[in-house]
Amino acid sequence: MDIQTTKRTELIDITDRVRAAVKERGIDEGLCVVSTRHTTCSIIINENERGLRSDILGMLEALVPQDKSYAHNQIDSNADAHLRSVLLGNSAALPIEDGHLVLGTWQSIFFAELDGPRNRTVNIKIIQS
Ligand code: ZN
Repeated sequence: MDIQTTKRTELIDITDRVRAAVKERGIDEGLCVVSTRHTTCSIIINENERGLRSDILGMLEALVPQDKSYAHNQIDSNADAHLRSVLLGNSAALPIEDGHLVLGTWQSIFFAELDGPRNRTVNIKIIQS
Protein backbone atom coordinates (compact mmCIF):
# COMPACT_ATOMS: atom_id res chain seq x y z
CA MET A 1 0.00 0.00 0.00
CA ASP A 2 1.40 3.39 -0.98
CA ILE A 3 0.81 6.47 1.15
CA GLN A 4 1.65 10.04 0.20
CA THR A 5 1.95 12.09 3.36
CA THR A 6 1.56 15.85 3.33
CA LYS A 7 2.95 17.10 6.67
CA ARG A 8 6.09 16.55 8.72
CA THR A 9 4.08 14.75 11.38
CA GLU A 10 0.57 13.38 10.95
CA LEU A 11 -1.59 10.38 11.74
CA ILE A 12 -3.34 8.81 8.76
CA ASP A 13 -6.19 6.37 9.37
CA ILE A 14 -5.57 3.30 7.19
CA THR A 15 -8.21 1.05 8.81
CA ASP A 16 -10.49 0.96 5.76
CA ARG A 17 -7.61 0.02 3.46
CA VAL A 18 -6.47 -2.77 5.78
CA ARG A 19 -10.05 -4.06 6.13
CA ALA A 20 -10.35 -4.07 2.33
CA ALA A 21 -7.15 -6.11 2.01
CA VAL A 22 -8.51 -8.66 4.51
CA LYS A 23 -11.84 -8.85 2.69
CA GLU A 24 -10.10 -9.25 -0.68
CA ARG A 25 -8.01 -12.12 0.70
CA GLY A 26 -11.24 -13.90 1.67
CA ILE A 27 -10.11 -15.98 4.64
CA ASP A 28 -12.15 -16.69 7.79
CA GLU A 29 -9.47 -17.11 10.46
CA GLY A 30 -5.94 -15.82 10.56
CA LEU A 31 -3.58 -13.00 11.32
CA CYS A 32 -3.03 -9.64 9.68
CA VAL A 33 0.33 -7.96 10.14
CA VAL A 34 0.61 -4.33 9.12
CA SER A 35 4.18 -3.09 8.93
CA THR A 36 6.37 -0.43 7.41
CA ARG A 37 10.00 -0.80 6.37
CA HIS A 38 10.88 2.85 6.93
CA THR A 39 12.77 4.13 9.99
CA THR A 40 11.03 7.46 10.51
CA CYS A 41 7.36 6.45 10.67
CA SER A 42 5.23 4.01 12.64
CA ILE A 43 2.09 1.90 12.77
CA ILE A 44 -0.13 2.43 15.81
CA ILE A 45 -3.64 1.53 16.92
CA ASN A 46 -5.82 3.95 18.83
CA GLU A 47 -8.94 6.09 18.68
CA ASN A 48 -9.46 8.34 15.68
CA GLU A 49 -10.57 11.51 17.44
CA ARG A 50 -9.24 14.91 16.37
CA GLY A 51 -8.19 16.02 19.86
CA LEU A 52 -6.50 12.72 20.62
CA ARG A 53 -4.61 12.75 17.32
CA SER A 54 -3.30 16.19 18.29
CA ASP A 55 -2.46 14.96 21.81
CA ILE A 56 -0.46 12.02 20.46
CA LEU A 57 1.64 14.32 18.27
CA GLY A 58 2.00 16.70 21.23
CA MET A 59 3.17 13.84 23.44
CA LEU A 60 5.83 12.91 20.89
CA GLU A 61 7.08 16.51 20.73
CA ALA A 62 7.21 16.64 24.55
CA LEU A 63 9.06 13.33 24.85
CA VAL A 64 11.37 13.82 21.86
CA PRO A 65 11.60 17.53 20.96
CA GLN A 66 12.49 18.22 17.33
CA ASP A 67 14.97 21.01 18.11
CA LYS A 68 17.04 19.20 20.74
CA SER A 69 20.68 18.36 20.00
CA TYR A 70 21.06 14.75 18.78
CA ALA A 71 24.13 12.80 17.60
CA HIS A 72 22.31 11.60 14.46
CA ASN A 73 21.72 15.19 13.38
CA GLN A 74 25.46 15.51 12.69
CA ILE A 75 24.85 13.43 9.54
CA ASP A 76 21.10 13.96 9.04
CA SER A 77 18.41 16.29 10.35
CA ASN A 78 15.72 13.91 11.55
CA ALA A 79 16.91 12.23 14.73
CA ASP A 80 13.65 13.10 16.48
CA ALA A 81 11.71 11.19 13.83
CA HIS A 82 13.86 8.06 14.24
CA LEU A 83 13.53 8.21 18.05
CA ARG A 84 9.76 8.72 17.88
CA SER A 85 9.56 5.70 15.56
CA VAL A 86 11.47 3.66 18.12
CA LEU A 87 8.89 4.59 20.76
CA LEU A 88 5.83 3.79 18.62
CA GLY A 89 7.08 0.70 16.77
CA ASN A 90 6.81 -0.25 13.11
CA SER A 91 4.09 -2.89 13.02
CA ALA A 92 0.77 -4.07 14.39
CA ALA A 93 -0.61 -7.61 14.35
CA LEU A 94 -4.36 -8.20 14.48
CA PRO A 95 -6.43 -11.38 14.55
CA ILE A 96 -8.89 -12.16 11.77
CA GLU A 97 -12.08 -13.86 12.93
CA ASP A 98 -15.11 -14.72 10.81
CA GLY A 99 -13.48 -12.91 7.92
CA HIS A 100 -13.10 -9.63 9.78
CA LEU A 101 -10.29 -7.80 11.54
CA VAL A 102 -10.67 -8.00 15.31
CA LEU A 103 -10.73 -4.34 16.31
CA GLY A 104 -12.58 -2.66 19.17
CA THR A 105 -15.27 -0.10 18.47
CA TRP A 106 -12.88 2.79 19.13
CA GLN A 107 -9.79 1.29 17.58
CA SER A 108 -8.35 2.51 14.30
CA ILE A 109 -5.09 1.63 12.57
CA PHE A 110 -2.89 4.63 11.89
CA PHE A 111 0.13 5.23 9.76
CA ALA A 112 2.16 7.73 11.79
CA GLU A 113 4.29 10.00 9.62
CA LEU A 114 7.16 11.38 11.68
CA ASP A 115 9.40 12.94 9.00
CA GLY A 116 7.20 13.89 6.08
CA PRO A 117 6.03 14.77 3.66
CA ARG A 118 7.20 11.62 1.87
CA ASN A 119 6.05 8.72 -0.27
CA ARG A 120 5.65 5.75 2.06
CA THR A 121 4.94 2.06 1.73
CA VAL A 122 2.91 -0.05 4.16
CA ASN A 123 3.07 -3.84 3.92
CA ILE A 124 0.00 -5.92 4.75
CA LYS A 125 0.66 -9.62 5.35
CA ILE A 126 -2.35 -11.87 5.84
CA ILE A 127 -1.82 -15.40 7.12
CA GLN A 128 -4.54 -18.03 7.24
CA SER A 129 -4.77 -20.18 10.36
ZN1 ZN B 1 18.02 10.03 9.63
